[in-house]
Amino acid sequence: MKAGAAARGVALCAGAGLVAWITGSVAWGLVALTTALLAYHAAHYRAFARWTRRPLAHPRLGDGIWQRPAGRLHRAILAGRERSRGLLGAQRRLRSTTDAIPDGWVIVRADGEIETYNQAAQAVLGLSRDDQGRNLAALARNPRLAALLKGDIESELAEITAPMDETRRVELRRIPMDEGRAIVMARDVTELNRLLTMRQDFIANVSHELRTPLTVIVGYLEELADEDIDFATLKAMLPKLTPQARRMHALVDDLLTLTRLESAPLPNEATIEVVNVAQMLDTIATEARRLTDKRHKVAVEAETTLALRGVGSELYSAFNNLVTNAVRYSPDGGPIDVRWFESPAGPCFEVRDGGLGIAPEHMSRLTERFYRIDLAGSRVRGGTGLGLAIVKHVLRRHQSVLHVESELGKGSRFYCVFPPEQARPAPTIG
Ligand code: ADP
Repeated sequence: MKAGAAARGVALCAGAGLVAWITGSVAWGLVALTTALLAYHAAHYRAFARWTRRPLAHPRLGDGIWQRPAGRLHRAILAGRERSRGLLGAQRRLRSTTDAIPDGWVIVRADGEIETYNQAAQAVLGLSRDDQGRNLAALARNPRLAALLKGDIESELAEITAPMDETRRVELRRIPMDEGRAIVMARDVTELNRLLTMRQDFIANVSHELRTPLTVIVGYLEELADEDIDFATLKAMLPKLTPQARRMHALVDDLLTLTRLESAPLPNEATIEVVNVAQMLDTIATEARRLTDKRHKVAVEAETTLALRGVGSELYSAFNNLVTNAVRYSPDGGPIDVRWFESPAGPCFEVRDGGLGIAPEHMSRLTERFYRIDLAGSRVRGGTGLGLAIVKHVLRRHQSVLHVESELGKGSRFYCVFPPEQARPAPTIG
């Protein structure tokens, strides 16, 4: 390259020398040299200008002094392009990451104008695609949000009704940044609030349920503290204390069962067994007859060859709760029919009673914890209000659901169907 440039230089000088020799004037020689140099650079400038229109193509400006800087420029442009491609990719990835976050965020400038926001902010705060540059407080029209943006809320936290849906609640948190800018995080807390309320209700219910028998027991214990009490009075007190203690025992037992069902891993190969349901129902019915002092007729009709894959203790608890309820909510002498059979949809467990029945308005809430139709009556009958909640959990863990059909004053039918693939032939005994 350098040799080519040198040769060109020598040729130009020789040409200029020749002109000077022919014309006999050095000045004409210099004029010829300058003209030749100008023509050379003008041609290369034109080629350079052409290349700048498509600078990604390799510059072809010969091997002269134009090629080297143009080549360097070309390499710098390619490197810059690579860098901006990388940056664009990173920006796109960052955008899709922030859009995947279920919580909304909005960056607002010191004057309250929206700088940028993620997709979730559109849903949670009701922003549209082109709200960039608009004033967030003016858009949301919420005094709490306006106060938060102004920095008037010391905790930097505010809860508002969702602008697009009055049934939902949104928690806002302002995080101050540089130059008066701030991030406003927006989270839909409707579900969280519902769970918190449920927990508070649950604690209030448990406390209330425990307090009633405890108050009775404490009352009797205070009487016992009286030194003059005679043995006969003492003995007469015991039958009044025992049912209250039993009630507390039953409540704590049911609470523990429910907690275990909620936190235990789903039934798996280690916990599942082949349950001989017919045998289990015999035990449950015997127990129910003993409890009811033979005042109810508990009949069992079960397919002895039909067993079920499941967790024995859980199924016992569910079936036992349903049979006990049938006894509890039936008048003396009321018939109770327990069935276990292969239905077209799968193995089916059913309890029918001719008892009190349930009015339609209560049906959807029966499996809620502590939901009782006749609270006082149910307490007297020994219910904790947790039985059907336990049944619902057990059945869900066994891919089944509880169905209830009932008519007020006539009786009820509680039943559930298990997936057919969970049926097994019952092992024969002996
Ligand atoms: P409890 O411990 O009070 O029986 P459950 O959760 O087992 O609680 O049942 C909830 C409510 O459903 C009961 O309080 C009762 O009012 C009603 N119930 C349940 N089973 C029957 C039934 N077989 N017949 C009539 N009412 C029933």
